[in-house]
Amino acid sequence: LRPKNPLEMDRNLLRSIRNRIQGANRILVVTHVGPDGDAIGSLLSMGWLLRAQDKERLLFCQDPVPEGYYFLPGSDEIKQEAEGPFDLIISLDCSGHYRMGEEVSKLVAALPGSVPLINIDHHITNTHFGTLNWVDPNAVATTQMILELAESLNWELTPPVATCLLNGLITDTRSFRTANVDSRTIRAALHLMEAGASLSDVTQQALERRSLASVLLWGQAIERLRLDDGILWTEVTQAMRQQVGLGGNDFSGLANSLSGIREADIVAVFTELENGTIDVGLRAAPGLDVAQAALRLGGGGHPQAAGCTLDGDLVGVQERVLSELRRSLAEQRDKAP
Ligand code: AMP
Ligand code: MN
Ligand code: MN
Repeated sequence: LRPKNPLEMDRNLLRSIRNRIQGANRILVVTHVGPDGDAIGSLLSMGWLLRAQDKERLLFCQDPVPEGYYFLPGSDEIKQEAEGPFDLIISLDCSGHYRMGEEVSKLVAALPGSVPLINIDHHITNTHFGTLNWVDPNAVATTQMILELAESLNWELTPPVATCLLNGLITDTRSFRTANVDSRTIRAALHLMEAGASLSDVTQQALERRSLASVLLWGQAIERLRLDDGILWTEVTQAMRQQVGLGGNDFSGLANSLSGIREADIVAVFTELENGTIDVGLRAAPGLDVAQAALRLGGGGHPQAAGCTLDGDLVGVQERVLSELRRSLAEQRDKAP
């Protein structure tokens, strides 16, 4: 049996995306606030691919690149400031317009006329906010989609492109461990290794290397864990951060690590950000879903991993989110066979 053609994208859409890119003179490429490995890998790989097409492009992310991704080729080219004009915007790994951040909204509002936007994303909660929307919830990462775009347009996969693409696959699947990994994912990884990406190097850099301070912060967060009727939750406050000497908003991986705990149906990690908002990271045990609860709270994500960002004090946000999670869990338990 030959495997099904991995390219699930419709031919007309592909043609339209190609034509828009070919016709553009200056492209703004954007990914989501609080970028993860797929966001940075998508932005950089698209940057390298457009560069090879001689396209003028600006790679933008409202928040700085997390230190763990400095090893990716071109990571210093990502800007936190942008100035028009642009005649095309490409958003990557953003489930809604708001995920690009306020700076992009301001920038777009200041441009004359309306600028077409190509929305390339793999979140099931995507709101189809673009002029062209290519949304594939079966893709494990946005970089998997970019790989398929490059293949179908016969764009060359150089080692830097392959490395950035593999970074997205590895981080969004936690090194091929998530339930959505299938033969299409492994085939994509194989292709990227053949194109010059190092699996061990990217895995080490993106998933294994971390600062001592971040592990100490994990320790504090683990001490604060609470379990309540299948919901396991904890918090990371700015005060805890100061205690271990970890500045900024850089901190990830805790929710993933907790998600394997047997007693937990749902994991929630509440993180106080520097700007005072609360980031909520959610994980669901296999067979359960947190994307819908996240969507109702104004966020989004995937069935197994989702999140939202909320205003308010930590305790108020926790009450709101926990009550939504309890409701959602009760509904899902009722429906379970
Ligand atoms: P995280 O817990 O930050 O690793 O995020 C898990 C998943 O939820 C990722 O797929 C994110 O794209 C999604 N997500 C996290 N925060 C938000 C948010 N504020 N709005 C929409 N999606 C989010
Ligand atoms: Mn992402
Ligand atoms: Mn992603």
